[in-house]
Amino acid sequence: MMSPRTLDENRAIAAQGLAKFSSEPVSHLVSGQWVGSRSNAVFDNFSPSDGRLLGKVAAGDAHEVDAAAKGASYAFEDWVGRSGNDRKKILHRIADLIVERADEIATVESVDTGQPIRFMSSAAIRGAENFRYFADAAPGALDGNAMPTESHLNFSTRRAIGPVGVITPWNTPFMLSTWKIAPALAAGCTVVHKPAEWSPLSASILGEIAQDAGVPAGVWNIVHGSGEVAGRALTEHPLIRAIAFVGESATGSLIQAQGASTLKRLHFELGGKNPVIVFEDADIERALDAVVFMIFSLNGERCTSSSRLLVHDSIHDWFVEKLGQRVKNLCVGDPLDPDTEIGPLIHEVHSQKVRSYVAKAIEEGAKVIRSDDEYSPDSNFVNPVVFANANNKMAISQEEIFGPALTVIPFSSEAEAIQLANQTDYGLAGYLWTSDVGRAHRVSKDLDVGMIWVNSQNVRHLPTPFGGTKRSGVGRDGGDYSFDFYMETKNVAIAYDAHPISKLGAVK
Ligand code: NAD
Repeated sequence: MMSPRTLDENRAIAAQGLAKFSSEPVSHLVSGQWVGSRSNAVFDNFSPSDGRLLGKVAAGDAHEVDAAAKGASYAFEDWVGRSGNDRKKILHRIADLIVERADEIATVESVDTGQPIRFMSSAAIRGAENFRYFADAAPGALDGNAMPTESHLNFSTRRAIGPVGVITPWNTPFMLSTWKIAPALAAGCTVVHKPAEWSPLSASILGEIAQDAGVPAGVWNIVHGSGEVAGRALTEHPLIRAIAFVGESATGSLIQAQGASTLKRLHFELGGKNPVIVFEDADIERALDAVVFMIFSLNGERCTSSSRLLVHDSIHDWFVEKLGQRVKNLCVGDPLDPDTEIGPLIHEVHSQKVRSYVAKAIEEGAKVIRSDDEYSPDSNFVNPVVFANANNKMAISQEEIFGPALTVIPFSSEAEAIQLANQTDYGLAGYLWTSDVGRAHRVSKDLDVGMIWVNSQNVRHLPTPFGGTKRSGVGRDGGDYSFDFYMETKNVAIAYDAHPISKLGAVK
């Protein structure tokens, strides 16, 4: 395996990648043209590490969204009319170009989001894998089912729904954008992408790659801007048939209301407060590694993070002691440093929110375990923390903190573990650790979540359904589930000419 690049090497690659974003405002991509806003409005994009200005970004409004939606609508008939094999070739070219530019993507993403380079390198490659997976699936996207009866042959086929809006959050913007846009394009949809305003840069690199790969003008559009203005206009636009949204649960509610008058089809991947349950019969060393990884990787800014540890009484003290050692050893620093395990959080507003939970935890009576390192409250660096002696009613157990903060809650029986796990408004993912096969099945059956990993960290297999229950989402994507969202299913019933037809009104 190649050794990771040094901090200086990463800085040099990042500087090259960032240069164009600092010299002129990041543009929208509308019908194949890179354009500013008609209003000339821009917003500032700052580095989470040190607050320096990375550059300005065009702030789109209803005018840009309208132009992009019209461009996507115009391009739709050509794109949907192409063969699946044609789309497959273009999507594979996108994947090739992502791999070619993986270092640039990883370093720019790392600087723009504060996510450690150790995770961003693989995020760029995973983005390419998303395109390859859906490229290969494109020729079969139209396939439906045969449902013959004695009198009729019923068969279904699918066709892309039309131009769609994709709205993404700031936590892992590159990976999430590819996860949404690749299946949309493979299905035959055209896209208007509204990236998150706190991390807009990798979306532009993806747009450049799309153009270089031969994606026709209008098939892939990008409009930057605030959620309340550009995002809202996209969700309300009558030419946009569906919205694939990843973000906060509260924003999902707003989008549902905004999309109501145009009857938008919606797919939501929202927040989580995911339980990891460790039973007394588990391989506790492996469980410890997975618990630590699943809350402290990606700065804890991860929808599937295991933010609530439910641990059996008999191993609770051992676990808390080990967690204490691990959390104090975590390496917090420059996201471009290959040794860094936790970088700065995305934005001062978010850092303050995450920090505020330490005071809440103390107030609620939990024990706060973290290193003595102090980070200036003016910076976005926060001290990773374990909240021990917690109960499930506390805010630290119920609210999505979306940072490097783990809440530990003891339990004494399997039934209690399931009850605690389900006592939350969220239902995205659950993790459980046990060596008892029967228990693994019983608990999996009873957890009210969309995805469960048994004796495993979060390992994605692209054909499997991804999504959550309750306030964690509406719908599933992944594999064919994505095509069901981005396509309309049409049934055709052809008679064998044998079924009776009543002769109403016939002369007697
Ligand atoms: P957010 O909801 O604030 O913003 C997400 C996107 O929505 C941004 O592009 C924003 O501009 C846009 N937006 C905001 N208001 C809008 C409106 N009224 N209409 C249309 N668009 C609007 O979320 P965030 O803070 O960027 O991201 C963090 C959240 O995302 C967390 O809750 C996290 O759990 C969630 N998330 C979920 C998944 C998942 O797969 N379930 C994955 C990653 C992140």
